[in-house]
Amino acid sequence: LSFQDLCYELGDGTPILSDVTGKVEADKITMLMGPSGSGKSTLLSLLAGLSVPTAGGLQILGDDIANMSTRQRDRFRGANLGVVFQQFNLIPYLSALDNVLLAARFGSAGMSGSRQRAATLLERVNLPLALHQRAASALSIGQQQRVAIAKALVQKPKIMLADEPIASLDPANATLVMDSLRQINKEDGLTVLVNLHTLDTARAYCDR
Ligand code: ADP
Ligand code: MG
Repeated sequence: LSFQDLCYELGDGTPILSDVTGKVEADKITMLMGPSGSGKSTLLSLLAGLSVPTAGGLQILGDDIANMSTRQRDRFRGANLGVVFQQFNLIPYLSALDNVLLAARFGSAGMSGSRQRAATLLERVNLPLALHQRAASALSIGQQQRVAIAKALVQKPKIMLADEPIASLDPANATLVMDSLRQINKEDGLTVLVNLHTLDTARAYCDR
């Protein structure tokens, strides 16, 4: 990902981001850090194509997503990006497996083999088989966040954008989530941009 002089203003012209330039290297875990209110979530939502910069350039995997139509951007996100937020990533009354399957259904990879792939992904984030059929609302917050990562990976994205994915978790669950991300980064070369707020976690897990 590469972005130059990105600006983002609210509808009334209030500037939120001004002239932000940077890049995120492929195959690495990069962290984004800054004080509350500094614009981290805004930047991640621009990079995810969930909102559109007021000015500036933004290239992801060689495509200029700032100039895409909403529909092209949605398709691009579905094909290339996995997005995880601090919370509310899952539909509470669906099982862990069905939450992951739902993401497969909405994406472009189609349903064939999705069930097996969803179960495999849940295993990769260390969610025990006994919990695959349990409603998301009956899982711990840490387990839910691991399901959210599996869900974000179901379309085989090249890049994961995660906005404070461990902020609601206790240290043990935060470790499990970050271990999962690191493992998938190593095995699949998943590029990760993650907003964290503890330096220790960053030192332990991030390359940049
Ligand atoms: P961070 O994630 O670093 O805490 P945010 O990107 O959420 O920061 O927000 C950056 C700034 O923009 C904050 O001051 C926030 O209040 C403001 N902001 C973001 N989106 C909106 C919005 N839709 N309406 C009003 N203010 C907003
Ligand atoms: Mg934020």
